[in-house]
Amino acid sequence: MVQDRQSVTQIPKRDENFSEWYTQVALRAELADYAPIKGFMAIRPYGYAIWEAIQAWLDRRFKETGHMNAYFPLLLPESLLQKEAEHVEGFAPQVAWVTQGGDEQLSERLAVRPTSEAIILPMYAKWIQSYRDLPVLILQWNSVVRWEKSTRLFLRTAEFLWHEGHTAHRTAEEADQECRLILGIYKELLEDVLAIPVLVGIKPPRERFAGADNTYTLEALMPDGQAIQAGTSHYLGQKFAKAFNVKFLDSDNQEKYIWSTSWAVSTRLIGTLIMAHGDDHGLMLPPKIAPYQIVIVPILGKDDGKVLPAAKDLAKALGTRFRVKLDDRDAYTPGWKFNEWELRGVPVRLEIGPRDVTGRKAVLVRRTGGAKETVSLDGIADRIGRVLDEIQAEMFRRSKTYLDSHMAEASSLDDLVRKMEQVKGFVRVGWCETQSCEDTIREKTGASPRAIPLDTKATGACPVCGKSARVFVYYARAY
Ligand SMILES: [Zn+2]
Repeated sequence: MVQDRQSVTQIPKRDENFSEWYTQVALRAELADYAPIKGFMAIRPYGYAIWEAIQAWLDRRFKETGHMNAYFPLLLPESLLQKEAEHVEGFAPQVAWVTQGGDEQLSERLAVRPTSEAIILPMYAKWIQSYRDLPVLILQWNSVVRWEKSTRLFLRTAEFLWHEGHTAHRTAEEADQECRLILGIYKELLEDVLAIPVLVGIKPPRERFAGADNTYTLEALMPDGQAIQAGTSHYLGQKFAKAFNVKFLDSDNQEKYIWSTSWAVSTRLIGTLIMAHGDDHGLMLPPKIAPYQIVIVPILGKDDGKVLPAAKDLAKALGTRFRVKLDDRDAYTPGWKFNEWELRGVPVRLEIGPRDVTGRKAVLVRRTGGAKETVSLDGIADRIGRVLDEIQAEMFRRSKTYLDSHMAEASSLDDLVRKMEQVKGFVRVGWCETQSCEDTIREKTGASPRAIPLDTKATGACPVCGKSARVFVYYARAY
């Protein structure tokens, strides 16, 4: 038996060293690895399969809602990036520049895109002439580069994968509706597919995307009590339209600027997924997104001539309905394989040995825990279908219970400081909407404002200045 790979027992306990646990799970489950260029990572096939599943789900929903994929250049001329002042100021510290092509020094520096508004809007200026050309509903799947000083696999890397949607509309209302539509799709992805409940809201001004009039956000809570931004949808108003001169002739014969949006989720979601569901045994993947929903481990005894063919038949039969992995490697023991597939988060394991073959049954084990179950091979697909649904629902329920029990409200600054320590999650306070009050709260709590809940009327007073609250804000410590 070859047992050369490091075993699962070497993962630190999640609650003893969350940060190291996270890194080890990402590495050992073979989701990603450090690349030989500082701050960059390679996404391994198993991690990329999760991204493909996220992509496939979103691609279907985007196309159902009238969006199409396109592709725009990797490099942005500096003069274009500088057209929107707030935008360039927000991204400048993180931009990587190309200054030379071949042996020729470039007359203008080219930015490796940190985001693509500055190359897409000039194209829209060419393509949009009349109100009949609107709306434009386009996204691209690509990578962007942001020069980060400290990096962590998936959560913060110099290059990451995402999609960026860029839409152009005739009216402000239509652009805002688009932002909310996308927010709804992201919420469905997070909650129904990834089994991660989110708080939805808008960002206070200083937390907005650079240049946006409004940023809608989805915030999830990780087991260490820190919030993570899971996706954003930006209402850009007419700022970018004016900067890039994107105009159309309306039906009243007036020339008007378009209203635009941009929105994204990234491979950061994979980091969120690791943290949200993993345990001391490693990764735990929701069935809807797991690259393999079922792993079949044959238990080869003395009389094993029948086992492998039976396991292959089972894999073939289940493979018509589920994503199945048959682990028939003879270099590893069944016990080693059990640990390996637990570490890699496969929702259901089926064990099949000589006596199971004779009795036409298999042993089913859930990654979420609970008793082993003997299932008949007759009707096993239906049984597994129900089990996968139960696992999906249970994973969401666990995460929701965790989120609900880590939310609180505070009425004064002292109360907020205390609750931040006690609750280790989201604490809601009223806010008068002045920046200095927000700054005071940040300073006293070490937390940042994560989201202003939508359509919620604030009551009470700002805990800093005592003026009446105009909105509620959820604070949390954050990634
Ligand atoms: Zn105030």
